[in-house]
Formats: sequence, structure tokens, C-alpha cells
Amino acid sequence: MKKTIRDVQLQGKTVFLRVDFNVPLDGERITDDTRIVKALPTIEMLREQGARIVLASHLGRPKGEVDPRYSLKPVAQHLSQLLGVPVPLSEELVGPAVAARIQALRPGELLMLENVRFHPGETKNDPELARTWASYVDLFVNDAFGSAHRAHASTVGVGTFVPAVAGLLMARELEVLGGVLKNPKRPLVAIIGGAKIKDKIGVLENLLGLVDRLLIGGGMANTFLLAQGYDLGASLVEEDQVDTARRLMQEADARGVRVYLPQDVVVAERFSADAAHRTVPVGHIPSGWMALDIGPQTVEIFKAALQDAAMVVWNGPLGAFELAPFAAGTMAIAQALSTSKGETIVGGGDSVAAIEAANVAESISHISTGGGATLEFLEGKTLPGVAILQDLE
Ligand code: ADP
Ligand code: MG
Repeated sequence: MKKTIRDVQLQGKTVFLRVDFNVPLDGERITDDTRIVKALPTIEMLREQGARIVLASHLGRPKGEVDPRYSLKPVAQHLSQLLGVPVPLSEELVGPAVAARIQALRPGELLMLENVRFHPGETKNDPELARTWASYVDLFVNDAFGSAHRAHASTVGVGTFVPAVAGLLMARELEVLGGVLKNPKRPLVAIIGGAKIKDKIGVLENLLGLVDRLLIGGGMANTFLLAQGYDLGASLVEEDQVDTARRLMQEADARGVRVYLPQDVVVAERFSADAAHRTVPVGHIPSGWMALDIGPQTVEIFKAALQDAAMVVWNGPLGAFELAPFAAGTMAIAQALSTSKGETIVGGGDSVAAIEAANVAESISHISTGGGATLEFLEGKTLPGVAILQDLE
């Protein structure tokens, strides 16, 4: 268990608060403010307790130099509206001017630093940069779970010079995702989809050792079907992963994990919303056609496998759900999760987008804010931005 802001004295402290405000922008308009909203409880608690707050985040991938396209200005403005207090933005990331502004903060006041990736030391986890930031504050609070798989100056480095604790969002992610790995409720069912096995081997491997049932869909299911001898036509397949698929199936067998693969699929002539398409059993994929969604019979089988689940972990859409004709499978499983009596946990950028497209976000127990970080956590890896946090004695 990691220490959180609930476990430390905050009154009068100056805090370096790393958040994940890497929001999608259309020009200067924030198209989805979820990441900002999710950080509010931590910010509010710090303010209530009388801490002075230095906010730090990256946005996009500027290359270690100032790039106005990635300015946090719209984020500071939006946060200011949400909180109803000023959120000034410091264009300087280090130096006497910013030090003086931090020094002048009163309890409960905020200062947001410009995009930390405007400094070349950030992604290199430059100790000089980290030490400088740390010298401005008393405490490092990491609430950026989505960046915790990166060892950068603002996600790890600062915490090597001042005490480091988790923010409330980080703490919740660790509690829920940690619960899957350390204390799963059974039956535990994992649904793994997405385009490629290659992206998900680590997750498949680690979850195989934990779950009672594994449901596989999406593009990656094709390679499993190929390993079983089916003809996949022009579907996305990974020839170089056939052995991996075979090995994972054997491992599942040896561990008594039941693996569910598609029995029918929606096939199309092309990867396009206006392509001719129809549903066929997996043994009847026409040559030159590609499998782009699980079929209705598979949906029923998957739903039955989810019926009595006490815990469900879902990563990876079950089809090319961005294209309307191939969204039905993913939408049906999203619905099934929303009515599940078990604890439901969804992670992954596209999977979360699918949950939102299905309009069921409210009925999911936990929607993880990490993309890559969530995957690495479920792989059983130690995330550097988590490792740096103090343990609760
Ligand atoms: P997440 O972001 O949730 O981890 P991934 O990035 O692994 O999910 O997978 C999402 C992508 O997988 C989507 O772009 C989707 O179009 C693609 N995909 C799913 N099923 C198929 C399929 N049968 N053929 C091709 N692409 C697919
Ligand atoms: Mg993705």
C-alpha cells in the first residue's frame, strides 16, 4: 500500500502536484475534459487542507522546447472555471521568477507550470531539473497514473528529492487495478481484444495466471483462429504470433482457464464503413474478405460467460468499432458489462472510447485513466511513477 495525501500533513506545505492533463485539443478547445475533472478531488483536498499547489503536466509530445501548439493555457483556463479560482500559468518552468511566484503563493492557491515537456530535461529524467523543482516544494504528489509508466523528471525525479505520495486518483487506480492482481473476486473474467496480439502478450500472459475465463475478440482473435487451422481470408493476422497464440492456449489449458474465441464473425470486403459485409461462421470466411467484428452468436456466448462474473476486466475492442457496421459486438459487450452484477473494470484508450460511445460509462465500476500505464500495470510490471511513492508503514 502506498501513502496518499490522506496520510500526510498538508497544512502549510507547498506541493508539486503531477497531474495528467494531456487532454485532446481542437485548436484551443478542449474536446474532452475527463482528465481534468478526474484530478479535481485531489486538488480540492489539497486546497481545503491549506496546501500551496504547483501543478505540473505534459500535453502532447513537444520535443524539449517551447511549442505553442502544446501550451497548457487552455487547460489552466478550463481548470480555473471548474474550480472558480484563478489558475495562473507560469511560462517559465525553472528559475528565480517561478521560484518567487511559488514563494508568494498563499495557502490554497495554485500555480500551473507550462507543459513540462517544453524542458529538455523532463523526458530524460534529468536530476538537475528534478532537484530544482523539488527545491521549490516540500512534497511531491503524483496523481498522474496515465504517465506513471514513464520515468520522467516530473513523474519520478522530483520524488527522489522530497517525500512522494499518491493523489486520490492515483490511489484509486492502484486500489482497483491492484485488487484485480492481488485480490480478485471470482469468477474473474477477462475480455481481451484490440488489433494485435503483439501489443497485448504481456497482459494475456499475466491475466492467464489469474482469470477463470478469458474471452478473446478483435483483430487478435484472428491469429488464435489461424492457430486452430481456420482460413481467415484477408483478415488482419500476425503470422509471427501463431506460435504465441498456440502456446497461450496450451498454457490456459494447463491452468484450467477456459478460453472463448469467436464462433461467428462479421466479414467485409474492405476495411471501410461502406464495404459489403455479412455474418458467417468462422469456418466460412470468404477468401479475400476480412473479419471485422464478432458475430451475434459469439456475443451470446460471451454474455453467457459474463453472466455470473464477480469481476470483469476488459481491454481492447472486439471489432473495428470506429466503423458503424462493425461496432455491434463491442457495443453489445459494453451493454453486458453495464448490467453486470460484478465489479467491472475497463482500461485502454480505445476501450474507454467504446464504453463512452455505448453511453454506459456511469454503470462501469472503474474506468481506468491510463492507456499504456494500465496495460503495463495489468502486465504485472512495476510502474516507476508508482515505485517512487512512499509505502504505508
Ligand atoms: P485499447 O486502446 O483499448 O488498448 P487497442 O488499441 O489494442 O485497444 O485496439 C483498438 C483497435 O483495434 C481499434 O482501432 C480497432 O479498429 C482495432 N480492431 C479491433 N478489431 C479489429 C479487427 N477485427 N480487425 C482490424 N482491426 C481491429
Ligand atoms: Mg489503442
